[in-house]
Amino acid sequence: MANLSVSRRVQSLKPSVTVAFMNRAKAMQSQGKDVLSFAAGEPDFDTPDIIKYAAINALTKGQTKYMPTLGDPATRAAIAKKLTEENGLPNCTTDHITIGAGGKHSLFVLAHVLIDEPKPGEPQQEVILPVPAWVSYAPIVELAGGKIVEVPTTVDTAFKATAQQIKQAITPNTRMLILNSPSNPCGTMYTPDELKAIGAVVEEAARTIAPNIIVLSDELYEKIIYGGIRHFSIGSMSQIAERVITLNGLSKAYGMTGWRIGYTGSSGEFGKKFTNAMATLQGQMSTNITSFTYPSIRAALTQCAGEVEMMRQAFAKRAELINVRMGKLPGIKNAKATGAFYAFPDVSAYFGKTSKGGRKIDSAMSMSEALLEESLLAFVPGEDFGGCGKNHVRISFACSEEQINKGMDRFAEFLSSLR
Ligand code: GLU
Repeated sequence: MANLSVSRRVQSLKPSVTVAFMNRAKAMQSQGKDVLSFAAGEPDFDTPDIIKYAAINALTKGQTKYMPTLGDPATRAAIAKKLTEENGLPNCTTDHITIGAGGKHSLFVLAHVLIDEPKPGEPQQEVILPVPAWVSYAPIVELAGGKIVEVPTTVDTAFKATAQQIKQAITPNTRMLILNSPSNPCGTMYTPDELKAIGAVVEEAARTIAPNIIVLSDELYEKIIYGGIRHFSIGSMSQIAERVITLNGLSKAYGMTGWRIGYTGSSGEFGKKFTNAMATLQGQMSTNITSFTYPSIRAALTQCAGEVEMMRQAFAKRAELINVRMGKLPGIKNAKATGAFYAFPDVSAYFGKTSKGGRKIDSAMSMSEALLEESLLAFVPGEDFGGCGKNHVRISFACSEEQINKGMDRFAEFLSSLR
């Protein structure tokens, strides 16, 4: 039996560090340890009642059978309406919508729909990724056969890639550009002008050197913004709309992480072709998502503006608090959070020191280990977010102000105890 193994594909797949630290913190809490977790990118707010009751009603009415693979027409139409009216996507109809089991599942399916393994002698398809970026993009792209081309950013420029940097990264092999604004893990966002400049670069590249370029715009955090920057969907730019896939979901905006609901929207002729391909692949994977949740999607999109605004305001206050607390920590460099619910401070000034418990702190990982084991504080180490992430830790502040204050007290104490 010793020779039995799992696939090489999975042997070389990196486990998700966000999920790993989130699970470790939860396991320690269930052992009765007073762990303060800032690991999970998960709002502490419960799902609004109106969304829950929509699912309960559907359940009691017997909506428990298979449904169309990409979702029922009424729900897909509600999403198309949202993307048209709120995000300005042109030519986005019911036929341009796919619904999957969470943003990550939709991303997985779309990566496999759009990225090819190279044929013998062909170059690998390239996927441009401004980094630091969420930990799952690179593994999913690589699993689909693509090659990640990192565009480095730093805390000093709020972790934003410039249009010029993107232009330099584009080659004839570019298949995709991944954008994520507001950003997980950086907590910052692009201005509409910055995105328009990037869109112009994509438009030019598509006409010249990179005819196959597609933009994946991950907008999961679009509702959680508070820094005075307006959210802009790059898929609304008519010149490139047909080559933009907008990825979104209900997890973050509506306190619905456990429901697992993600979706994509696209435009025009290619958008339809893409959507049909998504249906083919998803039809061999998971088919439809849990059928009695479709009415909940409609309820969330059409009836929960008040709840979303209440949560946004709470996140705004938390962001203000964390920005202030971060500013008081000596040696810590932090970009002001303007969207999503993450702080991503540079902690490298402390590398080379030793913790009270005798741990050598020489990386974000070793600091996160020491914080969790010795201070019962769960942050996510930044290495797997790529680029300068190795000098950073991610702090998800989707929790009460009381917890933020307690956590920052512990963090300050930990830092001052390092020798
Ligand atoms: N997206 C969330 C996070 O970054 C949930 C975990 C995951 O999928 O990575 O924490």
